[in-house]
Amino acid sequence: MSHLVAVLAGDGIGPEVTHEAVSVLQAVRPDLRFEEALIGGAAIDSVGEPLPAATLDLCRKASAVLLGAVGGPKWDKLEPVTLRPEVGALLPLRRELNLYANIRPAQTMTPLLHASPLKEERSKCDLIVVRELTGGIYFGQPRGRQNEGATALDTCIYHKHEVERIARRAFEIALTRRSVLVSVDKANVLETSRLWRETVDVVAQDYPQVSLSHMLVDNCAMQLIRDPGQFDVILTENMFGDILSDEASMITGSLGLLPSASLSDAKEGSVFGLYEPVHGSAPDIAGQDKANPIAAILSAAMMLDLSFSDQSGAAKIRNAVEEVLSEGIRTGDIYEEGSRLVGTKEMGRLIQSKL
Ligand code: NAD
Repeated sequence: MSHLVAVLAGDGIGPEVTHEAVSVLQAVRPDLRFEEALIGGAAIDSVGEPLPAATLDLCRKASAVLLGAVGGPKWDKLEPVTLRPEVGALLPLRRELNLYANIRPAQTMTPLLHASPLKEERSKCDLIVVRELTGGIYFGQPRGRQNEGATALDTCIYHKHEVERIARRAFEIALTRRSVLVSVDKANVLETSRLWRETVDVVAQDYPQVSLSHMLVDNCAMQLIRDPGQFDVILTENMFGDILSDEASMITGSLGLLPSASLSDAKEGSVFGLYEPVHGSAPDIAGQDKANPIAAILSAAMMLDLSFSDQSGAAKIRNAVEEVLSEGIRTGDIYEEGSRLVGTKEMGRLIQSKL
């Protein structure tokens, strides 16, 4: 049976980079089927709402979702706030599809080692942050203001089952890599972190092949800069993961290179996920053939790897990207003297030519 991929191109550079990612997927996996649906500002303009029911329906029947980006100045100030692309489309999409596991790899590519803000000898890293995405302080109740606005309140709550399922996901990912897992918390202070640590230890018993250690979040923030090469998989809760994944991703150099996955549970034997570049819709360069499509293309590679268990297809895409970069071919965001400047389409075409 051929897999259906829902393609939500969205706004700004979303359609440009998604087009290249779909072409790359078609080159590697001619058996995949693609169907497009509206999201974000494009959906507001067309049908008056950022996340139409038809889009959700398509996502639910698909095996995986490929998202470009949403948002832009035309829609970012709409009232009520639930009409805006990010609040009205991305957040409900993640909630509705139960995308509780956010996976953000940070891998320095050899041709771009010097693009890292760290010294070249320290910048080599190949790690994945596994972040819990639908619990913790971003969702806990009660929240809000008291005392005539002078007191603010957020609540951090974790339930054992939420920790268990994200931990299991991190162990499974570790098994496909170097099998070294660091669970990050603040167990010296927070009760939720102590539950987190206890639960991760219990899940670890099912994965004796994985080496598990615990690290406090402040130490982890420091270790990521001191020696990012020590990490393989970092497992952490929602807010710590938000911060650490941004920190880790900058080690690799550019926003235009970074893919991500947000995963739910297995559906008919395969893991359901939404794959998207980490960057936004970049309205400043939209429609100009300037966007770097590599983050979207590497997100497609993650889809093959995680949703379709096609590690060989994913590796082909990653190798093709690295080959093109090692030939000195660059989009504007990673351009350096002596390299060959190309646009979005040409970068996509060259990557496809290596497949
Ligand atoms: P952005 O990531 O869109 O852009 C930041 C800067 O990076 C810009 O200068 C842009 O030109 C550049 N850039 C981003 N991606 C690039 C690429 N692939 N190639 C080359 N250069 C690239 O962030 P922003 O400007 O803060 O946000 C713009 C819009 O995107 C806003 O409406 C924001 O809400 C939205 N946004 C959406 C998502 C998402 O859909 N997941 C994520 C972040 C921001």
